Amino acid sequence: MGYKHTKYPEWSWSQSRENIFKTCLRKYYFQYYKSHNGWEWNAPEENKKVYRLKKLQSTDTILGSSVHHLLHRVIYDGLPLEKKVLDDKIKKELNDAFRESQNKPAWKVNPSKHVMLKEIYYNDELKDSKIDFINYKKDQIINYLINTDVVENIKNSYYVKSFDTDTFETFEYNKTKVYAIPDLIYKKGKNEKPHIVDWKTGKEKNSSKEQLKLYAYYYYRTYNYTGEITATFIYLYEQKKKEYIFDDKIIKETEKKIENSIKEMKEYLKDEKWNQPLGQAQFKKRTNDVVCSYCKFRELCNR
Ligand code: SF4
Repeated sequence: MGYKHTKYPEWSWSQSRENIFKTCLRKYYFQYYKSHNGWEWNAPEENKKVYRLKKLQSTDTILGSSVHHLLHRVIYDGLPLEKKVLDDKIKKELNDAFRESQNKPAWKVNPSKHVMLKEIYYNDELKDSKIDFINYKKDQIINYLINTDVVENIKNSYYVKSFDTDTFETFEYNKTKVYAIPDLIYKKGKNEKPHIVDWKTGKEKNSSKEQLKLYAYYYYRTYNYTGEITATFIYLYEQKKKEYIFDDKIIKETEKKIENSIKEMKEYLKDEKWNQPLGQAQFKKRTNDVVCSYCKFRELCNR
């Protein structure tokens, strides 16, 4: 289907949308409304600017998506789980991102096709301390994958389904499109309980059990299942796992949570039918703090 211009974005729900909504209403407005159509050549300059800032990436997100993509290829496509293979591919993506970030005019014209690192956009440089940290993080992640049986154990399963980083599968809940697809699902045997895995390249303190509940909910709905599910965060950088066991009680709990969240978000709509938001002033900025200092939109808030 070809491209169709819409005045307002499509309504949808996801855990990350909820997180941003709870973190800062102004950021929520920039991310989900003001950036809309900012890719069109004749869009107002202010929308183009917000869209460009939305597309900024950090070295941590480049590393994270590179690791996720490689794990998908190792588990699904038979890419060898070898230190050099992983190291070369991750380094190449980080180096490409750094190189592309030097070309601001190209990124400005087409921010979805060119990478701009947030660190370079805001600080004009990637500090040595940041480069050292990213390299250390990369090595920790690779060492964990190579020196444990975490991947081999998954590969030797009766059933494995891995979702790549560009998979944007959704399901519908009460006429709302919900984005909630796990990184991986596997079963050790035909009658064994399913396992859900979420690979994490960040720290445990930045993750929430709610995300895993949502993935379990996806499984219950999609596979018409009623038994227990094991859901695990695998913290690759911190080299540890955190496992939860859910039963089908979480179906109602998750539906209630999604419903409440949707209700709160819809209070910021002028017209629900078209997903037209209230004016920018209604989306309050948060008090200036450390969250603002890492926010990709901070230029727009003079922070
Ligand atoms: S800089 Fe702060 S106030 Fe502005 S959008 Fe980001 S988090 Fe919100």
